[in-house]
Amino acid sequence: MKITHIEPILIELPFEHGAPKPLLRSGMPRKMMAAVYLRVDTDEGISGWGEAFGFGACRIVHAAAKMVVAPLVVGEAADDISSLMGELHRKLQSMALNGPVRFALSALDIALWDILGKVSGQPIHRLLNSECRRTELPVYASLMRMQKPDYVAKVSRDALERGYRHIKLHEQTIECVAAARNAIGSDMALMLDTNCSWEADHAIDMANKLRDQDLFWLEEPVSPPDDFEGLARVQTEGGIPVAAGENLGTFHEFCRLADSNSIEYLQPDVTKFGGITELWKAVRYAERIGIKLEPHSPLYGPGLIATQHIVAAMKTEAMIEFYYCELGESPMGDAIYAKDGFMSVPDGPGLGVDIDTAVIEKYRAA
Ligand SMILES: [Mg+2]
Repeated sequence: MKITHIEPILIELPFEHGAPKPLLRSGMPRKMMAAVYLRVDTDEGISGWGEAFGFGACRIVHAAAKMVVAPLVVGEAADDISSLMGELHRKLQSMALNGPVRFALSALDIALWDILGKVSGQPIHRLLNSECRRTELPVYASLMRMQKPDYVAKVSRDALERGYRHIKLHEQTIECVAAARNAIGSDMALMLDTNCSWEADHAIDMANKLRDQDLFWLEEPVSPPDDFEGLARVQTEGGIPVAAGENLGTFHEFCRLADSNSIEYLQPDVTKFGGITELWKAVRYAERIGIKLEPHSPLYGPGLIATQHIVAAMKTEAMIEFYYCELGESPMGDAIYAKDGFMSVPDGPGLGVDIDTAVIEKYRAA
């Protein structure tokens, strides 16, 4: 079975999250949720879907898929994923350890797994682990940054009412964290993701000030994200379990952070890290050395569905991250939404979701 065409698609979906729209780095409100999907067609009429991380740079990632990856892939066999992806990683080694080309390769890998599952009649989670019997997965509500305690409290309560038992904030102040904690009470798990807002000394100081809030984890407290030493210091001197890893590009980088045994949770992202093939290597490695993996997935497309399959197939239990909002329309239907804090594991072949291509075309921006 040969690959005949690669189609990267930039999609922009309307959304609401119960508060004013979060601000982009430019200071402008984020009006739409943009993402890069990838469709891979084959000469046997089977197509697969993937997703590349795009956040804020979707057009560059789209161009990387179209101009760098696609020309190397058309005409190649679709059914030997590890040899094709291995060859691509070698050919693109000077530009694909992280960043847009890596993200495009991640989408391709996910799409190839979707095709493999469709050909074999198996959901991806069962291809990864034939013993997998999970049917639902715990989900945490990952709230967008609101920067105002009143909104943080309101949306935290909304998430609680919808059945979530774990809530993650993307805030940077103690006031906002305290507002969420007051709103949800002491029994609920509360996580804080600062997106690398602080340098290590400041992060340690903040962690100590946040101890009363009983955080389940403190995510990416340190800038830059690869300051592994700084992360380790926050974990030991700040007294809160540290989570990080969404910005890791490769399996070897993952191993370096995992081997340092300095933080509690590792969070590689299937749409950045090289797709299902590479993330599954990380899962196996984490299982071998006994470190906890909590994949990063602020996504609504094939990347989120791929994450569901990976988490379903893991030996240890992990949560799915859902970047809390309601889309105007969902190309993946209800498969992206939690009910009472749980998502169903798709059981159809491949990704196992009926992708609504009419919705994709309607919101297609490139
Ligand atoms: Mg994060």
